[in-house]
Amino acid sequence: MKAGGKKGFMVIISGPSGSGKGTVVKEIFDISDKFAYSISATSRQPREGEIDGKDYYFVSREEFEDMIAKGEMLEHNYYCGNYYGSPKEHVYKELERGRNVILEIDVNGGMQIKSKYPEDTVLIMLVPPDADTLEKRLRSRGTETDEVIAKRIERAREELLFTDKYDYVVVNRDGTIRECAQSIIDIINVVQEYSASRNAEMIKDFFEKR
Ligand code: 5GP
Repeated sequence: MKAGGKKGFMVIISGPSGSGKGTVVKEIFDISDKFAYSISATSRQPREGEIDGKDYYFVSREEFEDMIAKGEMLEHNYYCGNYYGSPKEHVYKELERGRNVILEIDVNGGMQIKSKYPEDTVLIMLVPPDADTLEKRLRSRGTETDEVIAKRIERAREELLFTDKYDYVVVNRDGTIRECAQSIIDIINVVQEYSASRNAEMIKDFFEKR
């Protein structure tokens, strides 16, 4: 019997900077059209090349606080002096259509969503294979000072401490973007097909029908 609920899952993809999160997520969309993407809102200024409505919804601090007050955020976090959060509306619409929604957010946001919607959330941590590779990737980005690199490594350490609270870990070794993307798609297919909580309905009157 084909199981699996109709509603989509929220697929949280977290991982420290240097884990290759953004690249892997792009690859998922190249491989599959079964996913939707949640564009986050932030009160930080756009960086060069970032586009409003594509990279983020760039809003003012007041607008962000207003969205929180109106209950329009699935989750939000205050990080390095700015708000970041996932607006509810688009995510809900896509879930109702049966699409899985990818949220590329930090561990804080991931934990908030999992605690609010445990049965509809899959937490995936993308990790570099080891600390040396992480440092190499952070340095290869170019111009950052040793101090900034050290801060990012420390932040990576903090984020990776959440790994045991996540449902799945995918290791991004050098040159394995495609494999990582495919692994995440496979995980979601399996969860969707075999989720026990989603299929409890199916076996409720199992014995009555004999
Ligand atoms: P950046 O300013 O470098 O784009 O992002 C800073 C941090 O905010 C990253 O760790 C990123 O994963 C996180 N972030 C981006 N969007 C969201 C969001 O919607 N919610 C939460 N909780 N974190 C986010």
